[in-house]
Amino acid sequence: MLDRRSRFRGKAVVILAAVILAVVVYAFLTIMELTPPEAEWTSSSEYLGREPSISITAADTGTGLRSVRVSVVSGKSSTEIFSKDFTGVEPPAGDFSIELTPDLKKLGIKEGEAVLTVEVKDLSLWRSGNTLMREYPVIVDTTPPRIELISRDHIVFVGGSEAVIFKVSPDTESAGVRIEDRLFQAYGGAFEDEDTQLALFSYPYDLKTGKSFFIEATDMAGNVAIRSLSVLVKAKEYRKRQIGLSDSFLESKIPELLGTAGIDATGDLLQDFFLVNKDLRTRNEALIASFMSSSTPEFLWDGRFLQMRNSSVEARFADFRTYKYKGKAVDKLYHLGVDLAAVRKSPIESANGGVVAFAGDMGIYGNTVILDHGFGLFTLYSHMSSIDVLGGDGVEKGQILGMSGSTGFAGGDHLHFGVFLHETPVLPLEWWDGRWIQNRIMRKIDDAR
Ligand SMILES: [Zn+2]
Repeated sequence: MLDRRSRFRGKAVVILAAVILAVVVYAFLTIMELTPPEAEWTSSSEYLGREPSISITAADTGTGLRSVRVSVVSGKSSTEIFSKDFTGVEPPAGDFSIELTPDLKKLGIKEGEAVLTVEVKDLSLWRSGNTLMREYPVIVDTTPPRIELISRDHIVFVGGSEAVIFKVSPDTESAGVRIEDRLFQAYGGAFEDEDTQLALFSYPYDLKTGKSFFIEATDMAGNVAIRSLSVLVKAKEYRKRQIGLSDSFLESKIPELLGTAGIDATGDLLQDFFLVNKDLRTRNEALIASFMSSSTPEFLWDGRFLQMRNSSVEARFADFRTYKYKGKAVDKLYHLGVDLAAVRKSPIESANGGVVAFAGDMGIYGNTVILDHGFGLFTLYSHMSSIDVLGGDGVEKGQILGMSGSTGFAGGDHLHFGVFLHETPVLPLEWWDGRWIQNRIMRKIDDAR
């Protein structure tokens, strides 16, 4: 029969054994854990260009990371592009992430199908670290697209438009004409051969003189080819104009414009004018640009663009306006369209065939219609009293879009008409000129066909 003491001793032994087991299990799990680490390559494309940026993250929740290795395996040859060993150094706390930008061509990696491998080990003593191997199938492409210029004789006025035709290699994803930070997108679709592309471009009215044009093409692997484009740039004089602001005009417009836009008035007429002419204008113009960011890859227009019937030009494109209030200059900006006036509530015709990209209220521009004519070409009609079309409608040349008016920040009944190449406003005069369209655009297309 067991006495109380030995019963107690028996219990103690069991408890001690349990504690030892727990310590051993804990030690095993911490220094000899069996859970492998995690690793991931995040990429939106399976293509690796000449200098791809490769983002790798790795982590181990147990003992921590021992090593990370990244390689490109092409056929039988494996090229290491990154290797890091954490033994003897402090392993990273939390996720380890690295952005690699190897030069795959310099490393001698062959083009074509390959595998990106990410190998990570942890510090577990079990089998000298648990290993995780991730394998991502990739396509290595280190050759930039080819660009072959087809059209000749490129002339553009400052603020005006011009066309160029060029051919790119089939793996090209996007191409266009670059000047400084602006890229005028090129489109296939004007020719049977999809690799032959046309770009409409401008020497922007507000750009300093002496800047150069380039044709740029990017392939699916992100390789960029750049070719210089020689263009004869002709100077154009734009006018300076003064706009007088009267209290009665401001009082009749400002409170309504601020109210509709949900902007709190300050109570000071001049400060409220700034809220309209600067803040609200910036907001409206950003919204207009957003409706011009993508365009139909088709010519929806034909021949010259129509000028509003029986209209006189009240303000020209790129007039540099100084706003005067009580005799003092208070604001300055470019007028980015032409103001056309006829009789009140005149019908506004579509200048050419297109699709309605926007129809509705646009703050200082009032009731506005934006038409997409394809290939990045847009027209804008503002200050209308009424609109007869809806977003998405196809319109024919001369179709009535609505009636003229003085909605938005307009003093009297007129049409503010703008022509844009994507978000860049251009000289409308050229697009009203059938001979200019024939010489600058259609002739180049005919020659290339
Ligand atoms: Zn205007």
